Amino acid sequence: MSPQKIVKSNEEWRQLLTPEQYRILREKGTERPFTGQYYKHKEAGVYLCAGCGQELFSSEAKYESGSGWPSYWQPIAPDAVETRLDLSHFMVRTEVVCSRCGGHLGHVFEDGPRPTGLRYCINSAALSFRPANQG
Ligand code: FE
Repeated sequence: MSPQKIVKSNEEWRQLLTPEQYRILREKGTERPFTGQYYKHKEAGVYLCAGCGQELFSSEAKYESGSGWPSYWQPIAPDAVETRLDLSHFMVRTEVVCSRCGGHLGHVFEDGPRPTGLRYCINSAALSFRPANQG
């Protein structure tokens, strides 16, 4: 996968996204824990970027972290996401963004399960879902 970057103006993104999607993807917002539509979601399929539709996470890597957000132990492909140092809110965190549109997805922490030991903590509003049985 060699993602073609998607670049849009804020106004273009506002036209495409719901206000909640815009706040999270384009303004690095965070949804309240235990409220997102995919937090308890267990269907088999693929989670896509709500901004550009790129495949981001497989249901096979989703697990219950207890954090209140959808959690995955790896992205669907190594280049599906990019990480950036995030020093906001008086914390040192690693931000996770979509590699194609740069949309903010959430953060990755080093307290996940084997085999990676990683926890990709992702906002539901940054995702859409394609069930496995819809090819
Ligand atoms: Fe994207």
